[in-house]
Amino acid sequence: MCGVAGYFSRSGANVAGQVMLGLYSEQHRGQESCGIAVSDGRIIRLHKSMGYVKEVFSPEVLRDLPGYIAIGQVRYPTRGSSVIRNAQPYVIETLGGPIYSVASNGDIVNYEEIAEWLQSRGVHFSSSNDGELIGRFLVYHHEREGLTIPDAIRLLMKRVKGAYSTVFMTPHCLYTFRDEFGFRPLFLGEIEGDMAVASETCALDILRPQHIREVKPGEIIQITQEKVISSPKPDVLFHDEPREFRHCVFELIYFARPDSSQFNEYVYNVRNRIGEKLASYDDFNADAVVPVPDSANFIAMGYASAKKIPFNFGLIRNHYVGRTFIRPDQYLRDESVRQKFNPLKDFFTDKKIVVVDDSIVRGTTIRKIIRMIRGAGAKEVHLRIGSPPVKHSCYYGIDTPRREELIANNMTLEEIKAYVEVDSLKYLKIDDLKECVKEPWNFCYACFDGKYPIPKINELKIDEQNVTVGPENSNGENSFQ
Ligand code: AMP
Repeated sequence: MCGVAGYFSRSGANVAGQVMLGLYSEQHRGQESCGIAVSDGRIIRLHKSMGYVKEVFSPEVLRDLPGYIAIGQVRYPTRGSSVIRNAQPYVIETLGGPIYSVASNGDIVNYEEIAEWLQSRGVHFSSSNDGELIGRFLVYHHEREGLTIPDAIRLLMKRVKGAYSTVFMTPHCLYTFRDEFGFRPLFLGEIEGDMAVASETCALDILRPQHIREVKPGEIIQITQEKVISSPKPDVLFHDEPREFRHCVFELIYFARPDSSQFNEYVYNVRNRIGEKLASYDDFNADAVVPVPDSANFIAMGYASAKKIPFNFGLIRNHYVGRTFIRPDQYLRDESVRQKFNPLKDFFTDKKIVVVDDSIVRGTTIRKIIRMIRGAGAKEVHLRIGSPPVKHSCYYGIDTPRREELIANNMTLEEIKAYVEVDSLKYLKIDDLKECVKEPWNFCYACFDGKYPIPKINELKIDEQNVTVGPENSNGENSFQ
């Protein structure tokens, strides 16, 4: 999972700071590395590093990034290991100098085939990262095949399979586009004539925009000094050709910040509804409901208000530890779970507690937490999970481990209950999850039901003969309204 951001200042002001603020709000989407590329209208400058946004982008670093167009990314690895060469954005040099830059959130399913295809035509890669693949694909078709950039993006949408919410920059233009399934979120904001792009609305809120709208699945937006051009125009794409999308439901359950709005929903509302559903499964009343903070807070609140029983933060989280799951290896993960949570003293003593978490993946985190709560004196611990069992790996941008590591693949419900040492365990039913979101047919549930919207990797072939470039650019008009 990653987060992207972009900014175009119509007045020519320096904008690295705005992108930094956006990335800072999206830090929860990736904590391994971050970067910002900036265009001053002539060349593109880049700064990227492992680490957190606020540490990497000091005022001095931002001062050395002058320019009125910028893109940025926070990353945690789904493809490629956690090393600086896989950090984004990428700057692509041509004879004209460093004049393209790209950053993406997602995962390319047919990465190997596309990479081999480009390599066989003399294109070199500096990483194994899908963002670089997207950038090299676009630059190859623009520079060597003479396609306009929007046409190169249309070709990419036909050939490159998978999830991508992408920002792409030339010295004078900012482009943003989203795969046709709309797996990952992407938004456009207008701030007094300037345009901003971000993975989450919370990253735009901080810039105080006058308008925010979703970048539609399959939509390509080009932002220039004069105008904002959308192609295909969303109304053409979405009313004349009705079709289904595949938004990632896990964004709503876990990944997105609760103050964001995604896929036509306020994230916290969906989580509240999930909690209410979970409450409807129980015919007993506990003494208190406790979330695993922060991701299960709103689910636990929904449970507590439906049951009219007390909600309490029984576990205090050290906010400086970060997301334990994101840590790239098991040792770091184990260590940080212990450092991350501490139970309130005396709170649990002799109580019947409902503990709510958003999901169980490997089972590492929750097992330790339950032990902690029991150690703090709880009499009974009932665990409620705000998602169905995670049984399948994600190929569209969420870092799920291999299937063999998923606890729900290896154990029955009874076995998981015994393993995590709880008195009872209930997961959200998938049909109930579908009742918690608007337009449930537009979501991807593959990590729960194994129904992958994109065929298996080896079934995808690049069929050069059948690839045609899509419709001409629509006439430039402000697509914002
Ligand atoms: P685990 O210890 O592997 O069962 O981790 C499960 C916890 O990690 C859940 O409670 C979530 O809060 C969080 N989580 C679940 N899936 C992901 C993911 N793909 N990336 C980051 N964190 C996750």
